[in-house]
Amino acid sequence: EYVNFIGFFHHIIDRFEMTKEQHVTFKRKLPNTEIFVEIDEDKLTQVLDNIISNALKYSPEGGQVKFKVKELENMIEVSISDQGMGIPKDNIKKIFERFYRVDKARSRQMGGTGLGLAIAKEVVEAHGGRIWASSIEGKGTTIYFTLPYERSQEDEWS
Ligand code: ATP
Ligand code: MG
Repeated sequence: EYVNFIGFFHHIIDRFEMTKEQHVTFKRKLPNTEIFVEIDEDKLTQVLDNIISNALKYSPEGGQVKFKVKELENMIEVSISDQGMGIPKDNIKKIFERFYRVDKARSRQMGGTGLGLAIAKEVVEAHGGRIWASSIEGKGTTIYFTLPYERSQEDEWS
């Protein structure tokens, strides 16, 4: 169904902000308008939950997690950035494969199965979007995804 993605995203970020145990600051750069996108809310919740949990899992004490939504021509671009250890260049595409985890020993200690981003990719692509990552080792990681949307005619005329 059609969901105001901005309100929906704020709500999910709020939930993490209230329950997080680490000292990590959140920064939001979301438009002040409503953006209605046709999504399966439960599935997109699962996608965002995983990306945000990863960002927190790999954030250093005192780090910042940044949430952005950019309105493009026929889609929105959502991004979540952290200041964690990053992902080596050679592994950056593999993190979306099932059960793939960078550095087995360290990941095992961090918990998880390695399915989160594979599920995220499946869900985003089923919605007609794309998902990718950019990362600098030692500096941090950004996960991006897009979702198609049609601007309403009223928007175009006003
Ligand atoms: P699960 O999500 O099933 O609990 P997981 O978090 O290990 O397990 P994914 O979410 O699919 O699995 O992530 C795959 C791997 O990508 C992780 O194990 C980790 O090595 C790497 N990764 C994902 N997000 C980040 C991040 N923000 N910073 C650094 N590494 C990351
Ligand atoms: Mg995960």
